[in-house]
Amino acid sequence: MFLKGCPLQCLWCCNPESQKSEPELGFIESRCVGNGVCGAPCVSACPVGAIHLSGQGKPSIDRKTCDECGNCADACGKDALKVVGREMTVAEVMAEVEKDRAFYRRSGGG
Ligand code: SF4
Ligand code: SF4
Repeated sequence: MFLKGCPLQCLWCCNPESQKSEPELGFIESRCVGNGVCGAPCVSACPVGAIHLSGQGKPSIDRKTCDECGNCADACGKDALKVVGREMTVAEVMAEVEKDRAFYRRSGGG
């Protein structure tokens, strides 16, 4: 399980998506095929106009306007946009952990 909300916020953090405690929109540029190929449905899917296309026809996200609704991620057929993180109850977390019970038992921990 990877938890979000790390308070250290080191400048060299290799998992910056773990710093904010709330879900947030991630963009994996290498998966984005750009407006010329897909038509950029991500732009029109945004209800608050937070996505504009860069010179390469790829999304540029205005983080101050984005409310992390996830509409653009649903519209992107290439999985280039993705909402990272979700709220879970303790019971839901434990249900995930339980899937690896045999591993924890065999290794004496985890
Ligand atoms: S993020 Fe997805 S929908 Fe938007 S331009 Fe890239 S591939 Fe197309
Ligand atoms: S997550 Fe929602 S508000 Fe943010 S850029 Fe995507 S569609 Fe717009």
